[in-house]
Amino acid sequence: MNYDYIIVGAGVIGCSTANYLKKKNPNLNILIIEKNQRAGFGNTAKSAALYRNLFSSKISRKLSTSSINFYYKISDKIKLHKSGYLWLFSEKQWETNKNIINKLDKENLEIEIFQEEDIGKYLNINFLSSKNFQNIRNGIFCKKCGSLSALALAEYYANSFIESGGNIIFNKEIKSIKLTGEKELFAPWKDIKIRYLIDNNNDKYYSNNYVFATGAWTQNILSSIGIASNIYPKKRQLFGLRIKDSLNIFNKKFLNYPAIILPAGGVYIKPVLNDNTIIVGCADDLGQPYNFSDFNANPHYFDKAIKPVLKHYFPLLKDYILYLKWAGYYAYHWPDKNPVIENVSNITWVSGTSGSGIMKADAIGRITAAKLLDEEYAYLADKSRFKVSNLSLYNRKVDLEKLII
Ligand SMILES: Cc1cc2nc3c(=O)[nH]c(=O)nc-3n(C[C@H](O)[C@H](O)[C@H](O)COP(=O)(O)OP(=O)(O)OC[C@H]3O[C@@H](n4cnc5c(N)ncnc54)[C@H](O)[C@@H]3O)c2cc1C
Repeated sequence: MNYDYIIVGAGVIGCSTANYLKKKNPNLNILIIEKNQRAGFGNTAKSAALYRNLFSSKISRKLSTSSINFYYKISDKIKLHKSGYLWLFSEKQWETNKNIINKLDKENLEIEIFQEEDIGKYLNINFLSSKNFQNIRNGIFCKKCGSLSALALAEYYANSFIESGGNIIFNKEIKSIKLTGEKELFAPWKDIKIRYLIDNNNDKYYSNNYVFATGAWTQNILSSIGIASNIYPKKRQLFGLRIKDSLNIFNKKFLNYPAIILPAGGVYIKPVLNDNTIIVGCADDLGQPYNFSDFNANPHYFDKAIKPVLKHYFPLLKDYILYLKWAGYYAYHWPDKNPVIENVSNITWVSGTSGSGIMKADAIGRITAAKLLDEEYAYLADKSRFKVSNLSLYNRKVDLEKLII
């Protein structure tokens, strides 16, 4: 069988891309190949599945805002919960970010600047500094933020793709890529392209075009054929705490229980209060290598890197059991931490979502589909126009994202 397009990877990005490509041209014969047993079982399912429209870069705001618009339309299918986000800043962080924050269009983004007294209405939190931790000075409350089910989102796109006549095969891992021109040792005067892919059973897959939506594995797979994607995996860990009394953190009057970003080491909290649980994560920087080590979360990491932060800012949070832990990998695009959609010969790759792929997946899928059909512009869910080449490597036009967690 010779396909028009083969997409490797059924994460949220591969599924969104396949869905929009098939919608644009229903006659295309498209196959997704996935090494796991279900769509989204790679890093998509490992995510905290929070969404936000608060970013420093215009490009991130565009990708997330238009995606969130679409997620609102399918909210019941993806368990969307409009909890809001409360991003807390120390005095020093506020001074550093003040200029960026002041320039944001607060009405449009639906954000509010909180002073200490506003934060105190919502949270039982320690505002003071200590030897290791800075004080809390301000916060940004973002209404257009919350959480959803990342797995349900990936499955929504996968099902919609299958309903339109697309094919997915699971439990097949692409182990190698066969290029043309091998006999001439890939002589540069040859027009080299992918001839076929080989999976773990030695089965071969032929297509006119190949798309790698392989998330954190992108560099591993593409470097083998001479492509430098600049996309690197970095381990991220999440921990679930069962808490006895949620009101030790949240004030009674506040019903939506927002996600909270603390002003130390990128520690964040996602409340899942119907389960008396908070999920806690941390966005550390130096120290974690840019490569795969293992997929296990380390309880010592919770004790050493996260617990002291919780203890300082939430002194009342004492009674909890650490009962869940897992780890996954961000696909960081270095250095601007924005997604990449690039093409060489009959090979396209889409990744580099840098920890915000769930909240941008709808836009990224639409833009990749436009790129695959050689269109100059993609039309996003909010009807805005996006120049496809802005996310390429050769003609890249993105502003550096500074509000990363
Ligand atoms: C701990 C953690 C927390 C996060 N929190 C958030 C958050 O709150 N909000 C947010 O927006 N984002 C978050 N993210 C980031 C988000 O998970 C990613 O941006 C998103 O899942 C990327 O989707 P993807 O489809 O590119 O990658 P993936 O979901 O990893 O999909 C890639 C797929 O390719 C498959 N694959 C790879 N190689 C092969 C091969 N050789 N053969 C066949 N199949 C292959 C994999 O099995 C996988 O299913 C978080 C990530 C982590 C790890």
